[in-house]
Amino acid sequence: MMCQLSDEQLLGYQPNPAMLAACMALTEQLTQDDGAVLISKDGCLIASVSAWQHHLLAVQNLAALAQLEGVRVQHWYSASARAIRIQLQDAQAPTTAGHQFEAYQLDHTQAQQALEDLVQQALVLQASDIHLLFQPHHAELAFRVHGQLVGHSQRNRETMAGAIAAALNTRSDDFRELFDEQRLSSASISLAVHHEGQLQQLRLRVQKSPTRSGFAVTIRLQVEREPPQLTQLGLPAETLYSLQRILEDPSGLLIVVGATGQGKTTTLAAINTQIPRTEKVISLEDPIEIIQPHIEQKPVIAEHPELNFANMVKVALREDPDVLSISEIRDAATAQAAYTAALTGHFVTATVHAHDTFGALYRLLDLGLTATALAQTGVLCAILAQRLVAETCQHCAGNQDSCSHCYGSGVSGRRLAAELLVVDDGLREALRTGQLDKYRQRLVEQGTLAFKTALQDGLPCP
Ligand SMILES: [Zn+2]
Repeated sequence: MMCQLSDEQLLGYQPNPAMLAACMALTEQLTQDDGAVLISKDGCLIASVSAWQHHLLAVQNLAALAQLEGVRVQHWYSASARAIRIQLQDAQAPTTAGHQFEAYQLDHTQAQQALEDLVQQALVLQASDIHLLFQPHHAELAFRVHGQLVGHSQRNRETMAGAIAAALNTRSDDFRELFDEQRLSSASISLAVHHEGQLQQLRLRVQKSPTRSGFAVTIRLQVEREPPQLTQLGLPAETLYSLQRILEDPSGLLIVVGATGQGKTTTLAAINTQIPRTEKVISLEDPIEIIQPHIEQKPVIAEHPELNFANMVKVALREDPDVLSISEIRDAATAQAAYTAALTGHFVTATVHAHDTFGALYRLLDLGLTATALAQTGVLCAILAQRLVAETCQHCAGNQDSCSHCYGSGVSGRRLAAELLVVDDGLREALRTGQLDKYRQRLVEQGTLAFKTALQDGLPCP
């Protein structure tokens, strides 16, 4: 049995410069087959399992070629094709840095491959974002996994710049002209990469901006998949039950609250899956994050004079919807438009940026909705606040640094914690009489207002 090197172990095997071009050429030739081969400085031949299995002759020829070049191959290993390609790409790219146009030296195929390898690496780690900081002589790479930055490493600057240029210009025929390090750019692109034996469809949101010593790039990964069902969110049983009751005969305004990155968009999409096909759902989003095949999703541009949320709500209302989903209420005009839509008999879901359920009430008041309006029977129906809480990794108590389950972060996943406020007569009375603080205090003392998590083990994290 041949020894398999992990991705981390492989970093210790620098390609032999004399054999680099030959390794690169063979690897490119075998890419379709997930084949990759590397001969290291200290005489190790490392090939992917597929190369060993299906292209043994080509691998042996490479070893013979090495012999002719005076490189004695003494050890044989296997490693993942992606990790081998990353080693080759970094060794092959020019290392003379600080050159604005150096990235253009990588050809399109190599740059595209470097991008796909980077994204595959993120998928293996289950990362939500890729973070790259370009310094004068290298690029610092890290991944956000379960809310933490992990997997820090240094990559060849030009290889990574090439990958980013490929991402930004992927829809352009002319790859070489558009990339400019000093420009602010953002792009949304679709990409298909192989992961766990399947072709995985992804959307990448790439954001690039200059920094003091170079530039920074953040890539958010959005895996294209069916939106989750409400029961798959990991909500506490009571909260789930109350929400399902509301959705049996939905009307009025349902607000979902939380900070950025706490799964609000996923919850709105899950709520939409509960709406029967006999009803028309229009979802207004900036940007569209989860593809929901059965509803009408319209992109909105929050700052745009015409395509902003408040305007688009008015447009949507003329298109005879039953349900309106608004990805974020962040200004008075949108708050008013959402309220009016609910008042006129539509079921409206929307997110608000606040800390908890009462925070959302105060936010809506700040945005100009009056207490009397919010206390109107049948309009505001409920507020769901949610946050993701970290789950401690069970594999690395006291030995975090070398843990391969959580990559040293100590966090193995995140669980949804939720607080649901169903608007009832008591709350409406408190709104009308200006007793909101007092009412909140009472609910907290009764223990009915608190963030709770589902206690069952093994629930999937959203
Ligand atoms: Zn761990």
